[in-house]
Amino acid sequence: MASERCGVYPGSFDPLTYGHLDIIRRARRLVDHLIVAVAVNTAKVPLFTPEERLDIVREEVAGLENGGGSVEVRPFDNLLMDFAAEAGASMVIRGLRAVSDFEYEFQMTGMNARLNPEIETVFLMATETHQFIASRLVQEICRLGGDISSFVSPNVRRHLERVLASERGAAGPLRSAGNGR
Ligand code: ADP
Repeated sequence: MASERCGVYPGSFDPLTYGHLDIIRRARRLVDHLIVAVAVNTAKVPLFTPEERLDIVREEVAGLENGGGSVEVRPFDNLLMDFAAEAGASMVIRGLRAVSDFEYEFQMTGMNARLNPEIETVFLMATETHQFIASRLVQEICRLGGDISSFVSPNVRRHLERVLASERGAAGPLRSAGNGR
């Protein structure tokens, strides 16, 4: 993969939304190979297990139309900049919604640049129609029986309904309605 441009799009994807998919579609036009990196460990308590989040991203990416570089979905549980360097990536791609994302992303980018100045962080502005979509809010709306069809695919909706039903039914300890985004 010597002369190929590789990018990493990291996130918790809990679950993957149309906003994430839009970034994936656009990011793959910038690179030859895009790695969608699913964070195993997240600062927020996730609703879905790492395996479920990976499976969902894989299912959704498989449904993308052709166009742009190849897309691969991988888990990561180490430092993002180490993961990106080991993967041979020259850029990390993040999506940027309204002002609220900015401060966190600004700080992370600064820290990551110190860790590895060779890898650029590139921001794609959220598309107008996806600006307000956040995984955490999709979870909440679905939990309360709202219509999430304009935020996630029918497949993701089924996953959400299944997980939330098991949360309601069994109150399993791993499904304890976390505040994960
Ligand atoms: P993280 O825990 O790393 O923030 P997320 O899954 O919440 O993981 O988000 C992954 C990336 O996708 C982040 O850069 C985030 O800003 C971006 N993102 C999330 N939702 C949207 C959206 N609706 N439109 C564009 N980018 C988004």
